[in-house]
Amino acid sequence: MSLNIENIRGEFPILHQEVNGRPLIYFDNAATTQKPLAVIEALSHYYKTDNSNIHRGAHTLADRATRYYENTRSLLQSFLNTKEVEEIIFTKGTTEGINLIASTYGRKFINAGDEIIISAMEHHANIVPWQMLCEEKGALLKIIPISDMGELDIEAFDSMLSSKTKLVSIVHVSNTLGTINPVEEIIEKAHAIGAKVLLDGAQSTSHLEVDVQSLDCDFLVFSAHKLYGPTGLGVMYGKREILDSMPPYQGGGEMIKEVTFEKTTYNELPFKFEAGTPNIGDVIAFGKALEFINKNGKNAIKAHEDELLEYATVQLSKIKGFIPVGTAKNKISVISFNINGMHPFDVGMMLDANGIAVRTGHHCTQPLMQRFGIEGTVRASFSVYNTKSEIDSLVASVSKIAKIKNK
Ligand code: PMP
Repeated sequence: MSLNIENIRGEFPILHQEVNGRPLIYFDNAATTQKPLAVIEALSHYYKTDNSNIHRGAHTLADRATRYYENTRSLLQSFLNTKEVEEIIFTKGTTEGINLIASTYGRKFINAGDEIIISAMEHHANIVPWQMLCEEKGALLKIIPISDMGELDIEAFDSMLSSKTKLVSIVHVSNTLGTINPVEEIIEKAHAIGAKVLLDGAQSTSHLEVDVQSLDCDFLVFSAHKLYGPTGLGVMYGKREILDSMPPYQGGGEMIKEVTFEKTTYNELPFKFEAGTPNIGDVIAFGKALEFINKNGKNAIKAHEDELLEYATVQLSKIKGFIPVGTAKNKISVISFNINGMHPFDVGMMLDANGIAVRTGHHCTQPLMQRFGIEGTVRASFSVYNTKSEIDSLVASVSKIAKIKNK
């Protein structure tokens, strides 16, 4: 069933404003999505009525807050189809999830001479923690190259795999190109030689059904703010036996069983990895974001976004001077482009003057920009509340801007 986009737009207060005298058109969804009223209200409701510290209070408010907090974890169990609810760990975001895994799993299991494989289209968050680990351990970072269309070179990946490979850490969907990577195949091949696989799900979890058991990934990390939820909150999924084998990330309250000055024992999952008072209010509000997605259905959301992607791709491609960056066959609703003869930043400023919010620059993927020999791109990324008429406005504006240098 198709979605009622006007009703959905009604749930997002931020969309109903003017920017630079024009109705706001928000096409920066790959950076962060907007929040439905239910999420915003859940946050203020929590602080107005339930605020207290969780898991240890013997009073009603603490009990309520704990139940609501743990309810979000349960929603995530079905959202990702994890085997056990304890396999869901709350973090600050994708970045913290990857750093957590590098600092714990990486430090314990990756040694001198071992190899970690990433790809040429990774976000800095899935590059730098591995460079730091490799430097510390004397391990080697290998990079899967990509084609001009922005697709992984799977033959090159095959030839990189060996008994030295300990971890493949790969972006499920590229934030800059929109490419959906063939992660099922990557996971199967990595497992065949005994390597573990971490998926950076920052861009995939909001657009695709992600079933961790059917994918069989060992880790999945993502950020709540790209799924209509609050900023500064994320999720790390890991298979229980792997999480159990890892040392804790941070020491402190919550993560312990018993502390003496002689010896400390650690708490069970998931608390072993959630030291200190967590981001309680935002976790509770994130539950409402998940309910928003469940209510509309991921498939229906994706169908709408795919329609916008196809329409925008066809319309923008007609513009003289339009240069797409990333033309993979299998994509989510992200269009990166340049205008011949123009700096992406200038294009972004001109679009902003028309009330259209896009991202410009390297999108935290500088090596990817180097691969394409460019400084940056203009990126328009669509979400469930965007419309074809907004795309018409984008096309009209880009068309006008492109004419400056492409007569
Ligand atoms: N990986 C990808 C693919 C992303 O798109 C992002 C966010 N742009 C991140 C990692 C980092 O996410 P966060 O800043 O929320 O930690």
